[in-house]
Amino acid sequence: MSVVYERVALIGLGLIAGSMAHAIRRRGLAGHVAGHARSAETRRAAGEIGFVDSVHATAAEAVKGADLVVLAVPVGAMGAVAAEIAPHLKPGATVTDVGSVKQAVIDAVGPHIPPGVHFVPGHPLAGTEHSGPYSGFATLFENRWWLLTPPEGADPAAVNRLRTLCEGMGANVDAMDAPHHDLVLAVVSHTPHLIAYTMVGVADHLRRVSQSEVIKYSASGFRDFTRIAASDPTMWRDVFLTNKEATLDILGRFTEELFVLQRAIRMGDGQHLFDYFTRTRAIRRGIIEAGQDTDAPDFGRVRKG
Ligand code: NAP
Repeated sequence: MSVVYERVALIGLGLIAGSMAHAIRRRGLAGHVAGHARSAETRRAAGEIGFVDSVHATAAEAVKGADLVVLAVPVGAMGAVAAEIAPHLKPGATVTDVGSVKQAVIDAVGPHIPPGVHFVPGHPLAGTEHSGPYSGFATLFENRWWLLTPPEGADPAAVNRLRTLCEGMGANVDAMDAPHHDLVLAVVSHTPHLIAYTMVGVADHLRRVSQSEVIKYSASGFRDFTRIAASDPTMWRDVFLTNKEATLDILGRFTEELFVLQRAIRMGDGQHLFDYFTRTRAIRRGIIEAGQDTDAPDFGRVRKG
């Protein structure tokens, strides 16, 4: 594949930035990948792994001369990072981010972007429960969606170039507006995570009653909840603080559905339960047919590459 950006700067060097670095280098999508993380420990790890061409002590230094700057820090930290790098951005450069919430990032980052620099927010719908520089891998984005939320009036050439990079990393790209993104993600990711956190919390309370049985017999559905609930606490705190309205809306709907199912169980309404579970099973089939998961017993989550 050919070079899409001569110089890319990754700010934050965790799971997502690390995976981008691996994928960009494997596919030859950039001439040079510069990186910065706030802690000396992560910068040292990045040097040891060798997934970036240069590691910088400050974000300001890392973005100098970069054609693409990727903000890959928790959503709550994006605004401060943008303020720091703004005076050092190359005219004509593109700034993107990988945050799981889009409107809050646009509000926090947008005002710092100088005239002549393009801002094209994005979000790869790919991840694992692991974090930090050692957790990244080159195939994370393969056949996953990468959603771009360019603001109105965004430069089409800048958007297309970023699209080419994402596709180069193996992703499928779609564009939508930020509020729509945040609502969709509240349904497919944010609320399910909250439910997993809650279920594991319930089991944690129960464990004190039933000793170790919750852990011992966790082979069934519960184990998948624990995997999701092991996700990074900082990242998920920020997601709920910044996608508040959409998450509360979906949680409200969830609670209503739960009450209906609770009533069906209480009333012994087997037909209702059967019909409901038949509909949900069809959704699962649709996800597999769309290539977004496998029907393998381990859900295809063994890491590749
Ligand atoms: P991660 O592995 O925890 O890495 C986060 C990076 O951000 C680290 O390099 C960390 O630096 C840095 N950082 C943390 N707090 C910071 C702060 N206050 N100021 C400056 N830098 C800070 O996280 P990740 O999973 O790559 O997530 C990065 C972004 O991608 C988040 O916005 C998240 O919403 C989004 N995202 C995550 C997933 C997922 O499943 N994980 C999926 C899609 C999108 P140190 O290592 O030096 O602390």
